Amino acid sequence: MTRRRIGILTSGGDSPGMNAAVWAAVRIGAGAGMQILGVRDGYKGLMDENVVELTTDRIEDVLDRGGTFLGTARCKEMLTEEGRAQAVRTIQKFGMEGLIVVGGDGSYQGARTLSQRGVPTVGLPGTIDNDLSYTDYTIGFDTALNTVCDSVLKIRDTMRSHDRVGIVEVMGRHCGDIALNAAVACGADYVLVPEMQYAEEFDLSNVARRVEHIYRTTRTYATIVLAEGVCYDMEHRAHVFRRRLEAATGHSVRETVLGYTQRGGSPSIYDRRLAINMADRAIQLLAQRVGNRVVGRRGGEIFDMDIMEALNMPRTFDRPLYDLANRLAGD
Ligand code: ATP
Repeated sequence: MTRRRIGILTSGGDSPGMNAAVWAAVRIGAGAGMQILGVRDGYKGLMDENVVELTTDRIEDVLDRGGTFLGTARCKEMLTEEGRAQAVRTIQKFGMEGLIVVGGDGSYQGARTLSQRGVPTVGLPGTIDNDLSYTDYTIGFDTALNTVCDSVLKIRDTMRSHDRVGIVEVMGRHCGDIALNAAVACGADYVLVPEMQYAEEFDLSNVARRVEHIYRTTRTYATIVLAEGVCYDMEHRAHVFRRRLEAATGHSVRETVLGYTQRGGSPSIYDRRLAINMADRAIQLLAQRVGNRVVGRRGGEIFDMDIMEALNMPRTFDRPLYDLANRLAGD
């Protein structure tokens, strides 16, 4: 009996837990009598016919590895009719009856175009940014948050020793979730997120005022978490903020841009569980030949919904959490 073939690819920025999703899809798929094919380097592998069979032996040691062993790439050909047609040709050539795409909103757009061309496709949210509104959590967010919190606390140790203000810049271009959650979990003294960029609180003079208040009344060090999406076009943003804050307060300020350390590392238990549960749902959907869906988690439950509906959901900002961050900081 020939086994049904399902493809899987990872796309967009890598995130911890992408491998766990592939691992689970292969194991669960094998149990359901499916053969899982891995597409290398995201949609680029569909352009290049770069496809490998993923046996359970082959994926044995990837569950807890960071990054994505399948590779990921940006693939501009997917934005063209010809590129999309080539993707479908590769899918047909390898006999894939469905495709799992692990990635962010751009990757979901690609998945939608394939579903429209008759390939049942299911998206799993693989991005550290937590910027997909339809799901409470994306795969990789929890790991990145833990990495960020670890760094913020280490930076605070040295700021405390030298009586300094530390500005820690974290990832999050449109979505301040990493910054906000890290600020709360670490008790940061100020958090700057893109969602509040035009609000009054954002004014740097407010940051300076809070730092001065802390130095006058409590301690002679402070921690500020800054999301990269704040003044995104500004070059050396954290450095500029440092100079301005030093000028405004007269205190010694240091900036640290965490950069790619936030993307790497073994996925947390939470991210592994999330990836495994979501891959399970994707396999169930494709076993029934249901596509054009994305999988999410809301209120503790795994669910799936239409790709377009998910992409069209307006972004919400956790204002109560932001207010809590400020109250924790003594506002
Ligand atoms: P991240 O959140 O990490 O940036 P992402 O999935 O949003 O992840 P993108 O670079 O936006 O990352 O998209 C990944 C790939 O998805 C693109 O390189 C392209 O191949 C494909 N893609 C993006 N937008 C579309 C689209 N409108 N139609 C078809 N394919 C698309």
